Amino acid sequence: MSKYNKIYLKKGKEESLKRMHPWIFSGAVQPMSEIPQEGEVLQVLTASGEFIAVGHWQVGSIAVRVLAFDDVEIGADFYRERLAYALDIRKSMGVVNPPHNNIFRLVHGEGDGLPGLVVDVYAGTAVVQAHSVGMHRDRHLIAQALRTVLGTELKAIYYKSETTLPYKADLGQENGFLYGYSDENVAIENGLSFHIDWLRGQKTGFFVDQRDNRLLLESYSKGRKVLNMFCYTGGFSVYAMRGGAELVHSVDSSAKAVELVNRNIELNFQNDSRHKAFAVDAFKFLDECGDKYDLVVLDPPAFAKHRDALKQALRGYTKLNAKAMEKMPAGSILFTFSCSQAVNKDQFRTAVFAAALQTGRKVRILHQLHQPADHPINIYHPEGEYLKGLVVYIE
Ligand code: SAH
Repeated sequence: MSKYNKIYLKKGKEESLKRMHPWIFSGAVQPMSEIPQEGEVLQVLTASGEFIAVGHWQVGSIAVRVLAFDDVEIGADFYRERLAYALDIRKSMGVVNPPHNNIFRLVHGEGDGLPGLVVDVYAGTAVVQAHSVGMHRDRHLIAQALRTVLGTELKAIYYKSETTLPYKADLGQENGFLYGYSDENVAIENGLSFHIDWLRGQKTGFFVDQRDNRLLLESYSKGRKVLNMFCYTGGFSVYAMRGGAELVHSVDSSAKAVELVNRNIELNFQNDSRHKAFAVDAFKFLDECGDKYDLVVLDPPAFAKHRDALKQALRGYTKLNAKAMEKMPAGSILFTFSCSQAVNKDQFRTAVFAAALQTGRKVRILHQLHQPADHPINIYHPEGEYLKGLVVYIE
């Protein structure tokens, strides 16, 4: 038996763990005389004292994030093995393919057996994000394992968890380099260049999860008038330009995002007058934009951050999609997404259905989209499926 402190589950509460679900909720744990330290690795035992898992403890509704269902040590070897495995899978997917593609997600939390950890790689800089206190505490072990696994391909490790951790005041964490330094932040996705702002940008600096969907948009872009709503760094816009769009308009309420999209267009298509960006609220823009766009992307931020906000979120998706649909000329294509984990595929489709019905448009589903392979879903943890999209044809 390993060296870790033990906690015991209440009677019968091991069922979900037997199905290898990696979360233990606080209500499943027996009261303890001594509360563990936040982020500590614990051994989890059933009420009858049988070993069942090891994982990171945290104060909150998810009390333990399971790292292994066997009694292993969570040290350098553990992280090295999991990371090596994750990298191997990425290599099989073809996403580790410089110089054509050097942007990929190396670790996607539960999907890679590392709950609470996200690692995105941008041209040799690994941006590490901890979503649990345990991963924060283990960050130096993780950095060491990244250096071993990525070898000379790794230039720098940037740690970016200020906004993703709870109880920040007690942890003293700050963003910063754990290894090396890099301010050369241009990286390449499917042959297109992007400035990645990991220092100030949202998430790890870029929305890696739309890679495949951007490529699909490119194939629909030729000769079309494209509107990219909620554009952020302008990923969809840059692909639409390469796809031969007649014009591309990018919209984001953030002036910073508009600056980023302009930089990214300039990086790939100098002095190309087909593109324009607007720092405006999406709903306002749709109210005033007329009916000129025949290829529209709607990729809003998560409308439902929690399950309680579900109903309102679904109404939000319907309203947004209806606003776009009512204007689009016959023969238009709409790429519409939801990245709310609380909204499932069927609910999202129902919200889009309601928008079609409200606007009286004939709508056909051409593609059903989701997150790419480097954001894998652990089959025992369906909560890991978060990005869904539809490509619809509007008659
Ligand atoms: N499609 C992007 C990611 C979108 S993230 C990509 O492929 O990278 C969501 C973006 O929506 C953020 O940049 C945020 O600034 C913007 N946003 C949020 N609310 C908005 C609103 N009401 N109107 C316009 N943009 C908004």
